[in-house]
Amino acid sequence: MSISDRLAEVRERIAAAARSAGRDPSSVRLIAVSKTFPLDLVRDAYAAGQRDFGENRVQEALEKVDASPDLPIAWHLLGHLQTNKAKRAAAAFHTIHSIDSAELLRKLDAAAVDAGTIPELLIQVDLAGEDTKHGVPPNGVPALFDASATLSAARVVGLMTLPPYPDHPEDSRPWFRQLRELREGWLTAGVPAAMLRELSMGMSGDFEVAVQEGATMVRVGTAIFGKRPTPTP
Ligand SMILES: *Cc1c(COP(=O)(O)O)cnc(C)c1O
Repeated sequence: MSISDRLAEVRERIAAAARSAGRDPSSVRLIAVSKTFPLDLVRDAYAAGQRDFGENRVQEALEKVDASPDLPIAWHLLGHLQTNKAKRAAAAFHTIHSIDSAELLRKLDAAAVDAGTIPELLIQVDLAGEDTKHGVPPNGVPALFDASATLSAARVVGLMTLPPYPDHPEDSRPWFRQLRELREGWLTAGVPAAMLRELSMGMSGDFEVAVQEGATMVRVGTAIFGKRPTPTP
């Protein structure tokens, strides 16, 4: 199957999952995760109408951003971001899904002011407390909402989670539901809705479950580009 065929199939599966949950399919954005794959495949997907692409590592992402100035792509950073790379990140990425500290928020905001960009930021919520994963535990998130209230350029627009790798898609449902319920609780507690617009959750193995639980962004790599040559964290 071509990338164009696989994209069409993933989009159709997203739409079916949305309809099964009484949601409008257009309320879910597909982010094509191109990490480890060459820019040629990004161009193939772009030609098939895909506009949002996700990368895990800052260096690899920046190489692709720099090599594709002709493509008006919205680049998403999904992996951990060190504060010393905030400057480049604020200029290059449309959305950063891995916010995990107030310091990172402030550095990105200052860099965005300098660069004249308005990056959208998602707070990565660590639900399972796995040692190997980044993110903030739920009780650390309100402090980041507070820190977000004073930003000048960057905007916190929602939450992201990366649950333990599922053996079966349903294994992820409790985690996705938990993120949705946290969102609802914070809305009730008065956190501005603009900071909780997006829920980034779901990958190739479980994106339909994520859509049923309220995902507004799904991050899909393997189901579009095929198996990655080397496993990445
Ligand atoms: C690699 C990655 C994905 C995509 O994973 P697939 O299983 O290939 O769809 C999604 N989110 C994050 C944070 C990733 O690192």
